[in-house]
Amino acid sequence: MARRLNGLAFFLILGLLSACDNNKSTSISKPSPSPPTTVATETATSTATSTATSTATSTAMETASPTIDSNSLKKSILQRYDKIKPLHWGENVPGVRSRLQTKDKVIAITFDACGGPEGSGYDQKLIDFLIHEKIPATLFINARWIDANPEQFLTLARNPLFDIENHGFEHRPLSVIGQSAYKIRGTRNVSEVVDEVQMNEDKIEKLTGRRPQFFRSGTAYYDDVAVHIAQDLGLTVVNYSILGDAGATFNTQQVYDALMKAKSGSIVIAHMNHPEKDTADGVIKAVPMLKKAGFTFVKLSSYPLE
Ligand SMILES: [Zn+2]
Repeated sequence: MARRLNGLAFFLILGLLSACDNNKSTSISKPSPSPPTTVATETATSTATSTATSTATSTAMETASPTIDSNSLKKSILQRYDKIKPLHWGENVPGVRSRLQTKDKVIAITFDACGGPEGSGYDQKLIDFLIHEKIPATLFINARWIDANPEQFLTLARNPLFDIENHGFEHRPLSVIGQSAYKIRGTRNVSEVVDEVQMNEDKIEKLTGRRPQFFRSGTAYYDDVAVHIAQDLGLTVVNYSILGDAGATFNTQQVYDALMKAKSGSIVIAHMNHPEKDTADGVIKAVPMLKKAGFTFVKLSSYPLE
């Protein structure tokens, strides 16, 4: 099915067709594809290159939106990354954003909804609190969670307090060689990386009319090649600077203590799929204190990320 894709993808295709000069990757003033040679020949992804790529992505998204078949995009990415070996693996590989780029006294709280047999709950108490207190939040939602909570998903998507973002289709660590994290097998190749990202993009867009702009993998682990692929699919990869609930294992006091460590521009990760755990109570305890300390709460889309 043809659909509108961001400009970066368009330039990626153009680049493949014309073998054009990609040496503009350090410029942040013009949209430009991330060069295919970057990962292969250099230290995978320098921070400078990643920043340029991200900036180019957002610029390109605003200025160009040609129609490209998503299969064509996948094909070009398969060709582009087929032989490239990853050099980094973890939560903080180059290209993964973890903070808002600001000195404003703002915090972005993000909640993951992981889905699956043990992670498809809905923390009504937490969401009701956010709505009552008018706390904006960014929700990273997995396809399995959507299937388990279709009504709640649509209700959240309709609420302007919340942005729905992409937490993967099968909730896999994003790897081009099948690396695992927390005993969860990662995607095994470039094709699976594309599917893990793109299939949940398509699902969310179909249900809400809005295509997510941020991606966080299941387990928040990536290799550097997979991060580049997500970027070429038009997404900014986002983790965190504050571990808010450690996979919903923290008790109320631990969640509170974690959130109280937030600074200007912090991104908090916590979970909205474990109502039986203490995440909601910790958030409910911390938010009034953070407000008292002068913080306000924003969505990821409110600031540039670094
Ligand atoms: Zn998750």
